[in-house]
Amino acid sequence: MQLSEIGEFGLIRRIERLCRHKAEGLILGIGDDSAVIKGLSGFVLITSDVLIEGVHFDLRYTTPQQLGHKALAVNISDIFAMGGRPRFFLLDIGIPHGFDPRDVEDIYRGLNGLARRYDVSVIGGDTSLSRKGLLLCGTLIGESERPIRRSGAGIGDGIFVTGTVGDSAMGLELLKRGYRARGSRSRRIKAHHLRKLIKRHLTPEPVMLSRTDDVTSMIDISDGLLMDLGHLCDGSNVGALIYKDRIPLSEELRCVASALKKDPYAYALGGGEDYHLLFTSPSRDREDGVRIGEIIKRGRYIIDETGRRIPFKAEGYEHFKIRASKR
Ligand code: ADP
Ligand code: MG
Repeated sequence: MQLSEIGEFGLIRRIERLCRHKAEGLILGIGDDSAVIKGLSGFVLITSDVLIEGVHFDLRYTTPQQLGHKALAVNISDIFAMGGRPRFFLLDIGIPHGFDPRDVEDIYRGLNGLARRYDVSVIGGDTSLSRKGLLLCGTLIGESERPIRRSGAGIGDGIFVTGTVGDSAMGLELLKRGYRARGSRSRRIKAHHLRKLIKRHLTPEPVMLSRTDDVTSMIDISDGLLMDLGHLCDGSNVGALIYKDRIPLSEELRCVASALKKDPYAYALGGGEDYHLLFTSPSRDREDGVRIGEIIKRGRYIIDETGRRIPFKAEGYEHFKIRASKR
């Protein structure tokens, strides 16, 4: 099917039919010149993220459904990283010539699956022809009683991460090497490890803290643990000390890195798009985070397994640089 057969407005009507989830506070969704919402409490949070074909994704190994999921997931992660609740989503889409409108509907199917689970309404967007490549730009509106910034980390606070890091970067590396979640056979790599890592890259699941009363600063890991920790330190004007052996690595990452003769920490510290949360708190323990280090007055260091203090830069610790496996 061609877009020219149903036209822009035919496509928007199809999109509208797919976006039926009406969250509380939605007065008017898709169909008028603007959406109308009410009832946001506290502070309003607004964030947007763009996904460009050939820069952020490759249609040879991403399905339209997975793309739709990711376009919303990365935005939800930004709202969660502010301690907020996601509410209303808009998606602008640039469609290249020859792109099947049914694939556009699939983008919305992937999007809606996640939107329902997080009680987010898709309330609008814009549709245009693109001269080259598919483009998705998502904007998410959320709310929070107390937005948590990058700037509140205090000296002595613990540094916590909500889960294993490096899986997404390894998933991307596998995709680039030609492995697929289904149908790839390998003697070196177990099929379920492959599936799990690729899934972590293509359809990340946003992570939310169960409580934020004792959280002093927070950021989601999109650029890589060291880079995002660097952003947090810049924002708070402090330093950080992290312990290499406390960084959570998945079994899948360890096994696949070993099969490929790669250092798993290169992915865990330098790889991006984990969408786990990195946060600081004066509390000793947090049930939903692993304590990987402390905030110090100045300087940024990793303590390695031999107890050596190795400085790292925000751009990535020399050893752990793997820009190649980023997009
Ligand atoms: P206008 O020309 O007044 O901006 P449009 O024709 O672009 O209006 O859009 C009509 C309605 O359809 C609006 O409510 C808009 O938010 C919605 N819409 C357009 N494109 C999309 C899209 N890709 N996803 C979701 N809603 C869309
Ligand atoms: Mg418009």
